[in-house]
Amino acid sequence: MDEDLERILIGEKEIKKRVKELGESISKDYQGKELVLVGILRGAIIFLADLAREINVPMKVDFMAVSSYGSSTKTSGVVRILKDLDDDIRGKDVLIVEDIVDTGLTLKYLLKNLKSRKPASLKVCSLLKKENKQQISLDIDYCGFKVPDNFIVGYGLDWDEKYRNLSCIYVLKPELYNED
Ligand code: 5GP
Repeated sequence: MDEDLERILIGEKEIKKRVKELGESISKDYQGKELVLVGILRGAIIFLADLAREINVPMKVDFMAVSSYGSSTKTSGVVRILKDLDDDIRGKDVLIVEDIVDTGLTLKYLLKNLKSRKPASLKVCSLLKKENKQQISLDIDYCGFKVPDNFIVGYGLDWDEKYRNLSCIYVLKPELYNED
């Protein structure tokens, strides 16, 4: 294991099993609907690629990129669109696919922004939800795992653009990001 990683949190098999379960629930709920998966770049790419293959209803995939963390690990609360959707979502059944909800500020912004485009429905699937006491209350319709309030990497999640390619989910060593 890389020296920056403290411990493994969720193994490959467990992730695969949970992603399959999420895909089954989503497939059941979206029968006969016009599903559009909206992946939030870049953290959700690996999750979205696996999840999409566990969903058996017709779908389109689109992406948005918003600013959150740079190389530091603190959210600024200011969300900016770096890349918008390519297609119109009016009248579509939109499912936001996120990597992790921490404070919830990014998701709050995304929900408000996408809702204003008048989709038929708007739901959220997040791989991880952090147990952050400051988290704003938001409905996450499909959630993979609850994780402790540590900095998480792997399976798409980065630290300074590293570790996205790891197949498992890890806790980063706190001494690397405890700046207080
Ligand atoms: P929020 O707005 O909910 O505080 O933060 C959401 C975004 O911040 C996520 O989409 C993700 O990009 C980033 N983020 C939050 N917590 C973590 C974490 O523990 N690890 C990584 N790699 N990114 C995180």
